[in-house]
Amino acid sequence: MSYAIAPPSIPSLPIIGSEQRFPVRRVFCVGRNYADHAKEMGATVDKDTPMFFCKPADAVVTDGADVPYPQATTELHHEVEWVIALGSGGRDIAVAHAQALVWGCGVGLDLTRRDLQAAVKAKGHPWDIAKGFDHSAPVSALRPVSAGMPQGDTVLRLSVNGALRQQAHLSDMVHSVPEIIAALSTLFELQAGDLIFTGTPAGVAALQRGDRFHAELVGVASLEGTIV
Ligand code: MN
Repeated sequence: MSYAIAPPSIPSLPIIGSEQRFPVRRVFCVGRNYADHAKEMGATVDKDTPMFFCKPADAVVTDGADVPYPQATTELHHEVEWVIALGSGGRDIAVAHAQALVWGCGVGLDLTRRDLQAAVKAKGHPWDIAKGFDHSAPVSALRPVSAGMPQGDTVLRLSVNGALRQQAHLSDMVHSVPEIIAALSTLFELQAGDLIFTGTPAGVAALQRGDRFHAELVGVASLEGTIV
């Protein structure tokens, strides 16, 4: 068998303390998972059901590479998020069994064309063009959970040009990681290689060309890069 065109390469993330890389299959994202961010967006949290959207796997930016300022926007926003990487999958996973699917953790930015998001929200259109654009998902190297799962007092934060923009504890999340995995697995058969962005706390704001960002899941993973 041969392909008519060159097949796309598989996006992958570095692994802390390893020469191996983690292959990315899909990118799922949770919306409105911190009450203070939902409030700043004029939205409310649904405590029963997480809200999901997706990005293409090849939107992932790896290894601290520069992030090109995207086309078709004048309002590129940062959303710093705890990123979960799945090492196994399944469907209709029970909350009590969901933790076992997690292979590793990192920190990432759910970059958002906020002006386009406002426009599609107003029309009741899908979020894809606001969320799933090229280079919209910078992610750090992953730390395997064999080195320990981050606890609720772990700090998630983002600085831009040295100034703190967003900060929260993981315990501030409305839906826990096992709850997110369980809910997502009722909608999709989860697979090894899937990433899940778990939502952002308050403080989302614009990025400009030349801005240097530093996202941290303190003691677990960090990511630095530049908007170019
Ligand atoms: Mn987000």
